[in-house]
Amino acid sequence: MSDITDLTAAQAAAKVRAGELGADELFAAYRDAAAGDDLNAYLYVADEPNASGGELGGVPLAVKDLFCTEGVISQSGSKILEGYKPPYTATVVERLRDAGAPLLGKTNQDEFAMGSSNENSAFGPVNNPWDRERVPGGSSGGSAAAVAAGTAPWALGTDTGGSIRQPAAMCGIVGLKPTYGAVSRYGMIAFASSLDQAGPLTRDVTDAALLFRHMTSKDPCDATSLGSPEAIALPSATSLEGIRLGRPDDLSTEGVEPGVMEAYERTLALAEELGATIETCHLPHADHGISAYYVIAPAEASSNLARFDGVRYGLRADGSGDLLSMYTKTRHDGFGAEVKRRIMLGTYALSSGYYDAYYGRAQRVRTLIAQDFTRAFESVDFVVTPTAPTTAFKIGELADDPLAMYLNDYFTVPMSLAGIPAISIPNGLSDGRPTGFQLTGPAFSESRILDAAHALEQAIGFDGSPARA
Ligand code: GLN
Repeated sequence: MSDITDLTAAQAAAKVRAGELGADELFAAYRDAAAGDDLNAYLYVADEPNASGGELGGVPLAVKDLFCTEGVISQSGSKILEGYKPPYTATVVERLRDAGAPLLGKTNQDEFAMGSSNENSAFGPVNNPWDRERVPGGSSGGSAAAVAAGTAPWALGTDTGGSIRQPAAMCGIVGLKPTYGAVSRYGMIAFASSLDQAGPLTRDVTDAALLFRHMTSKDPCDATSLGSPEAIALPSATSLEGIRLGRPDDLSTEGVEPGVMEAYERTLALAEELGATIETCHLPHADHGISAYYVIAPAEASSNLARFDGVRYGLRADGSGDLLSMYTKTRHDGFGAEVKRRIMLGTYALSSGYYDAYYGRAQRVRTLIAQDFTRAFESVDFVVTPTAPTTAFKIGELADDPLAMYLNDYFTVPMSLAGIPAISIPNGLSDGRPTGFQLTGPAFSESRILDAAHALEQAIGFDGSPARA
């Protein structure tokens, strides 16, 4: 670890802008660090910077594999897209490049972002830098591990049901899932289009705000994008005076590891010392989030993934001259087990006769969950929970139990269904492993969330350096 890679992204950008550090020297330090990665976090590392200048000062950016990058592999962690090089770049990656963040590399992920451990990648699992026998979380596991290990100053991930927040928690870094529509999805290889959002994975809250403020846009290429109604400010709060934090009484803490719960309680006590009040709030339908999510996300995925047929992109298997067997064999060979499971679940849920019983009902539950949050925010500023019920588990530990794996998303899925922003910040260790504290607010409250998270971060004083050792 060099002195250069010790700097946070905001510090490095400031040094470059002040002429105290060369952008080329900065890029070279990270290129060498990324090339030396031994966590399987990267699927590609760039040779030369493709941007400089701007507020982001040439600080290089690691990008989850599923963001299309022109002429650079973009495979969404799948064998079906192995070696695929798109002819265009995702809007968000382009915006960040224009603001001065060159592409550092592409990071490993669960196949098509389906997973909570990064074990579903066609390119092998990623190791957690805090304990190499454990997962980094998923699906943005490569991005989280790279930032935690210091081989990237910051990274882009995507969150459909928790895939930014949960790996951030398990790797001891910050992860922000923005309001649905704040960031363009154009050029993100789709998983579940009504849920997918890109967001930053960073070492601290200031870096998250700095990256995020350049990510938002209303993009003519994504009809669901709105941008942000206000400029995102860099956070400065050190007090929580007057802030009401809501602790939901309807989300069960039964499956939560005692160490994760202790860390959560400790931070609530700190928040009170900073001037916040802790109030009980009600989210009566949030407990059904997992059930609704695991109908809606696979349904949308089954439709999105229909385009991978061996004709247009990536892999084409030999069908011996017969079109249907070429389709079938390509999809058989190209998709992994979890992706096939979701395609089957989703296709079933959307089939005629079952559509209303499954998909229609799940959508109604989704509306009720969104209404729960709207009501809760009438009496509290933010809802706070642990980010994930457990710390990082061992590689292979949950691999044969998809339902147990799905429960990882218990605290993150409700916000995704409601389309609202949420951040996970490092919340101390349990048994030597990082835990996360999640803060969520109303749509487009990112600046306020970042400010509150900043105050808490200062008070918690988490030391992430063991992961970078
Ligand atoms: N773990 C969840 C899933 O497997 C969420 C993934 C995500 O947010 N991309 O679907």
